[in-house]
Amino acid sequence: MLIRVLREAHPDERRVALVPRSISTLTAAGHRVIVPPGAGTRAGLTDEAYLAAGAELSDAAIAADLVVGLGPLTADQIGPTKAVVGFLDPLGAPAEIARFADAGVTALAMELIPRSTLAQSMDALSSQATSAGYEAVLLGAFALPRFLPMMMTAAGTIRPAKVLVLGAGVAGLQAIATARRLGAIVSGYDIRPAAREQVESLGAKFVGGPVIETAETAGGYATEVDETTRAEQQAALAAAVAESDLVITTAQVQGRRAPLLITTAMVESMRAGSVIIDVAASTGGNCELTKLAEVVEHGGVTIHGPFDLARNTAGDASEMFSRNVVSLLTHLTRDGVLVIDPDDEIGTSACVARDGQIVDDRVRDALEGRNA
Ligand code: NAD
Repeated sequence: MLIRVLREAHPDERRVALVPRSISTLTAAGHRVIVPPGAGTRAGLTDEAYLAAGAELSDAAIAADLVVGLGPLTADQIGPTKAVVGFLDPLGAPAEIARFADAGVTALAMELIPRSTLAQSMDALSSQATSAGYEAVLLGAFALPRFLPMMMTAAGTIRPAKVLVLGAGVAGLQAIATARRLGAIVSGYDIRPAAREQVESLGAKFVGGPVIETAETAGGYATEVDETTRAEQQAALAAAVAESDLVITTAQVQGRRAPLLITTAMVESMRAGSVIIDVAASTGGNCELTKLAEVVEHGGVTIHGPFDLARNTAGDASEMFSRNVVSLLTHLTRDGVLVIDPDDEIGTSACVARDGQIVDDRVRDALEGRNA
């Protein structure tokens, strides 16, 4: 296949979709890979490294068999190609998927790779959430006017900071592990019962709050909670939020607005100098006061609503995304071409457009405004 790597469109994006190491694998398998000059520079990857891996450097929109990008990718951005793979935001931007279908492009959304053991090596949501969880703690540590660990110094003993992590999926668990490594006193909470043991196994305390058996779908994702549960959650979390120095929120529900866990009144109960890092900002935020891509000050509390924290560890995040993509391509390629086998759960889950049609019911429902 002729595979073309995209230069990422967002000015703040530092990642690149394929790294030289992966390109060596692809060229060894007989594929031709074209990379825009300088596409990896901000991830610490030089053009020389790409050339040494067998890539060709070009900015031209050469007709490709496959275009690879991080995204979220749009139809305008990809140029002539038979197929595209990357984050496509299929449930948030279904109209773009319709445009891929109209252009006859086979579209593979990395967001829809199943969260199964078999597909673990292709799970880009997890790899990027790992970076985001780690980065959330670093951002919080910089924003806090205090140390995270306990310090016993000649100038006195400084108590360790209290960190609360809401939502204990991939990003939340990584945030808990990172905050623990930095010496903070950490607690966590999630609506899914399975999360308790995972939080505790990282040495954090599980905060008492509603835990709902039915809150987990077959795919592992949380379901949306009703108004009553939401009110119960806010009441149960109020004391833990009030006494925390740093709150990191990561709760999300696939294809829906993120749940509102921290109200304005709860922010007002926090000590001045406290910090909230809302990792769910791009899907609406877990805090009522969060503004996407902004830093809000409210009564001495600072609330960060970062757009995509994985960008900051661009080198490692690119490396992981690139491995996820190559693993997917290796799984889907037969005799050098991409094949979506109707019996293969991974290919059929990721494929959202094909043969001029949208082939995913959830994307069709989202396009038609049906919120199943
Ligand atoms: P996510 O980003 O969709 O959500 C983050 C967390 O928020 C989840 O743990 C979710 O339960 C929680 N959440 C949602 N609504 C909440 C609410 N109202 N209150 C509190 N918490 C709430 O999740 P994710 O990190 O993408 O992980 C999704 C699931 O997939 C998890 O169950 C995870 O263990 C599973 N997973 C499995 C594999 C695998 O088996 N290969 C890999 C990665 C993730």
